[in-house]
Amino acid sequence: MRPDNTVFKAMTAEHVKCLIIGSGPAGYTAAIYASRANMQPVLYQGSQPGGQLTITNEVDNFPGYPDGVQGPQMMQDLENQARRFGTDIRYGMVTKVDFADQPGHDQPHRITVDDKHEITADAVIISTGASAKWLGLPSEMRLNGHGVSACAVCDGFFFRGQDVAIVGAGDTAAEEASYLANLCRKVYMLVRRDEMRASKFMQKRVQTAPNIEILYNTETEEVLGDDEVSGVRVKNSLTGEESILDVTGFFVAIGHKPNTDLFRDFLDLDNHGYIQVEKGSTRTNIPGVFACGDAQDNVYRQAITAAGTGCMAALDAERYLVTLEMQGQEI
Ligand code: NDP
Repeated sequence: MRPDNTVFKAMTAEHVKCLIIGSGPAGYTAAIYASRANMQPVLYQGSQPGGQLTITNEVDNFPGYPDGVQGPQMMQDLENQARRFGTDIRYGMVTKVDFADQPGHDQPHRITVDDKHEITADAVIISTGASAKWLGLPSEMRLNGHGVSACAVCDGFFFRGQDVAIVGAGDTAAEEASYLANLCRKVYMLVRRDEMRASKFMQKRVQTAPNIEILYNTETEEVLGDDEVSGVRVKNSLTGEESILDVTGFFVAIGHKPNTDLFRDFLDLDNHGYIQVEKGSTRTNIPGVFACGDAQDNVYRQAITAAGTGCMAALDAERYLVTLEMQGQEI
């Protein structure tokens, strides 16, 4: 039992049955199901309302949109649908959690929003998604949004007819390099090892594209430019030789990091930081805490699979709340 529970309860401004953290397809789908099941969910949208899809253009593979849909529009549709059933959707960032190890009426889960607003919840659904990884170069950060991007699909358009570079050697990098090759004059693909990680099919696709040049054993030293990208200084890791590529766009496609640091002290995470859930469910190692979407999925990472697991999380949370009630807990 938590020793200071009584004190905390006295400070608590609000108690909710079901709190949803995050507003991508997983969070909104969980909200639709939870509100329809009368769980009166409160959803905090986080720093990027709508999640990764709001920085995507056309979404062509989400069932139900035969003509495709713009990512931001799809997220607005999902938000509207969740609101229609009464989800309380709020701006705000969850900044701290304190999950109870034996939750119940006397020991709810504690959540702090924007460092000041404290909430207790019987069930918590985590749908915080994942974020693009960066190389960590100061020049990359400085020119972010001024020629440096982690989303070719979002920003490639601005570099039509120009020369660009993309760093990474996985399926995402290969896919984005191909996408850029359709728009740009030339695409340099910077691969840090002497081989690519991408699937054979994707490798072949970039290797055979006439305007993609793959530079193996190549590391990015610096992105050049004062106000916008004017080039990239790269180094061959075998010879140590440095050279400058004249490009106006620099794309980073080296993977994603799940947004789960907040939960590290409480939840079991895998080596890459993805929340571990019981097979075939969204249950975490803490009763009453459920995880869905990209925060727990390193394999599929699609809007539709995120939405599917969001539905699962709401159903799992509903069953959990019913069990608490049946156990005689006042919730
Ligand atoms: P991955 O983790 O598969 O690949 C990341 C790539 O970035 C690796 O090649 C890695 O190099 C490289 N990298 C990492 N850090 C650096 C660095 N500091 N400097 C230079 N290069 C770096 O991520 P993806 O996003 O590509 O894919 C994630 C998952 O999603 C995979 O399972 C992938 O198969 C899947 N996916 C499937 C698609 C499809 O089927 N259509 C499309 C997109 C993704 P190294 O190889 O040397 O470690």
